[in-house]
Amino acid sequence: MKEKLIDNYNRKIDYLRLSVTDRCNLRCTYCMPERGIKLLDRRELLTFEEILRVVRILSELGIKKIRLTGGEPLLRDNILDLIEGIRNITGIEDISLTTNGTLLGKFLKDLYSAGIRRINISMDSLDPEKYRRITRGGDLSKVLEAIESSIEMGFESVKINAVLTGLFDRKDSLEFIKFAVEKPVSVRFIEMIPISGLNFVECTRNQINTGRLKVGISDIFKSMNKFGKYHKIKEPLGFGPAVYYRINGSKGKIGFIINKRESCYYCNRIRLTSKGSIKLCLFSGLEIDIKKEIRDGTDNERIKKLIKSFIKRKPKDRNSNMKCKVGSDLKIASFMNKIGG
Ligand code: SAM
Repeated sequence: MKEKLIDNYNRKIDYLRLSVTDRCNLRCTYCMPERGIKLLDRRELLTFEEILRVVRILSELGIKKIRLTGGEPLLRDNILDLIEGIRNITGIEDISLTTNGTLLGKFLKDLYSAGIRRINISMDSLDPEKYRRITRGGDLSKVLEAIESSIEMGFESVKINAVLTGLFDRKDSLEFIKFAVEKPVSVRFIEMIPISGLNFVECTRNQINTGRLKVGISDIFKSMNKFGKYHKIKEPLGFGPAVYYRINGSKGKIGFIINKRESCYYCNRIRLTSKGSIKLCLFSGLEIDIKKEIRDGTDNERIKKLIKSFIKRKPKDRNSNMKCKVGSDLKIASFMNKIGG
């Protein structure tokens, strides 16, 4: 009989965020330092064979949904082979992808053939110059083209992730809302999570990563009013913590991912980092080194036991684990490209 992963707070864990690489072709200011970070030696990354073995073990423990992330997942060589491999694992019902969209255009057809139907694309501004500043060099036109093609090809779900930085202003909010009114996509506004280790002095000078937002969530709601009446969508869309709204007559939706501890009470996810550790919570330093177990020759039944007992240590919420506090702020203690945002 299939087992289930249940933590100490009775949360059923059935969703895995799988970081396939720590490499990225952008340097988003809120995610990575300008000069990048020390990258893992390629031998430190899990091989496809190792990833598939961990996914098989996790699927036997009740993981059903997998989102590929990174780093930029489309930079991992032969990523389509990995997707095919995961799709063939019994018990995995959904594979999706989070990407910065810059390489997406050339992968779209093959991703569709490989079974991907849901894509999240990170795009923090519709202004090419602002986008370039936030991503430190990204070309917005490539991302917009890939979004159009994803819609044309009939992907079931195309979501746009826009992190609210200090550069985000009312014009941005109006442009994004218009985008969601005109296109069948979900635009999701994400509250930025501070990451310790990022150069916040530099970021503050550039007015990008400051906590002092020009436009906050309540201002976005005010901007939505300009486009018409809106209502909250009751049925869940996807498997994450976003809350969605639809403006009457619009083709798309607007979502919010707010950095609050209440979303932890429904948390259904764990992460497999690019270096092969399972992580229970973005905000917690707790990890179990699965790669070491695999490379030391531990058998599957023993690894299952280790994971089942480790899952009991999943923190109740983001505030209950003191390790994630830096000063008085709640921060993530590692760069997102390593963990898999
Ligand atoms: N390269 C891919 C991309 O850009 O979507 C996948 C990796 S990226 C780390 C995954 C998501 O994490 C992106 O949507 C990004 O905006 C989000 N992210 C990264 N750093 C963040 C932060 N400090 N606060 C909130 N979201 C963050």
